Amino acid sequence: MTTDAARPTVRQVRPKTEGWAQKLDAAGRPLLQFASPKRGKPPEHLADFTPEQRAAKLVELGMPSFRAKQIATHYFTHSTSDPAEMTDLPAADRAELVAGLLPPLLTELRRLETDKGDTIKFLWKLHDGALVESVLMRYPGRITLCISSQAGCGMNCPFCATGQAGLTRNLSTAEIVDQIVRANRVIAEGQLGGKKKTDHSQERVSNIVFMGMGEPLANYARVMQAVRTMVAPAPDGLGMSARGITVSTVGLAPAIGKLAAEGIPVTFALSLHAPDDELRDELIPVNSRWKVDEVLDAARAYFDATKRRVSIEYALIKDMNDHGWRADLLGEKLNARGRGWVHVNPIPLNPTPGSIWTASDPEVQREFVRRLEAMGIPTTIRDTRGKEIDGACGQLAAADEDGDPVGEVPAGTTPGSAPAEALLP
Ligand code: SAH
Repeated sequence: MTTDAARPTVRQVRPKTEGWAQKLDAAGRPLLQFASPKRGKPPEHLADFTPEQRAAKLVELGMPSFRAKQIATHYFTHSTSDPAEMTDLPAADRAELVAGLLPPLLTELRRLETDKGDTIKFLWKLHDGALVESVLMRYPGRITLCISSQAGCGMNCPFCATGQAGLTRNLSTAEIVDQIVRANRVIAEGQLGGKKKTDHSQERVSNIVFMGMGEPLANYARVMQAVRTMVAPAPDGLGMSARGITVSTVGLAPAIGKLAAEGIPVTFALSLHAPDDELRDELIPVNSRWKVDEVLDAARAYFDATKRRVSIEYALIKDMNDHGWRADLLGEKLNARGRGWVHVNPIPLNPTPGSIWTASDPEVQREFVRRLEAMGIPTTIRDTRGKEIDGACGQLAAADEDGDPVGEVPAGTTPGSAPAEALLP
């Protein structure tokens, strides 16, 4: 452990915002937005409903309830909302079924590629003009999609581009699920790298990370309904494995407890970024509500309930949170809660517009990892993809070609940019 005597000589930069003004509440503290601003509701969609509700909806439309499974198969398994492809349905009913159950939710505005086509960032426009992004990444043996749970974000973390514009609104369950279905279609059509094979029709997204725009646990009910649909076997859902789904949070402690009690063992990631309240209060404004020890206790309880090893995310920011003593303190706090329950994912900071902060130097990163490993904590620097297309963690900035935020958003709000990246080891 570093001695206290060594501390004063180490540079310490405070987390002040650069190039943008952080929104403050009446008391002058960073504004936290938990409630979604009221906007017109997105159209209801098959993916908003449980299988029972889908069958009831069919009856409402005056059609036999078994058609619900047929249409769900088209959507979840064949990734299509095109009536022309639904040849097992009576031609006369198809248009009505699709209009009633599969209304368009996401309009693709732009696609950016990097890594020889293995990484694609999508910019989607929602029915009301709000914008979100998702990032699709092909790795050897898996395909990961980083999805958004909100348009913008209300958590106001100064180092993340998404928080700068505030929260536009919560996404509906179907708007969350449709990001995956649209990605599956792109993969099946052979548009995601890996061109060596000619037939990609059987490939699908295997891993989901809720690391795009938004704070998933601030949109809890819709995110959980989306997760249930992701893990539901065909034809009711996407048939994905829960352990391949990662829910990442700034640390809303009560919601972490709820998540642990769901009985769906998703992978849980906590964006900690500082082991001491003094720094975390400034870096993660929600720390004013739930302190480091409280969120670490909640993370440990998540492990106890699910037996899933928890990830601690830690963006390494030069001279801000990358001090050796902080690595030691983090290690102590994790080990105080037991062994083998957690691993740490340091992420070298990705630059965001207007910010002077940068990633820690490579030797500082190595020292941070070394200290954690010396305390027996598995630690992997995260392979961060998509920096060239502003698609990496903290960079997703939903804007049009001129860099202007687009869409008919209400005065005073601009579409956010989000940490949309992903990638757990
Ligand atoms: N709101 C959730 C999910 C989205 S963030 C959360 O905060 O966990 C996904 C990850 O990217 C988080 O760990 C977040 O802290 C991190 N991140 C945000 N901005 C970043 C940046 N500029 N560089 C690197 N990582 C960043």
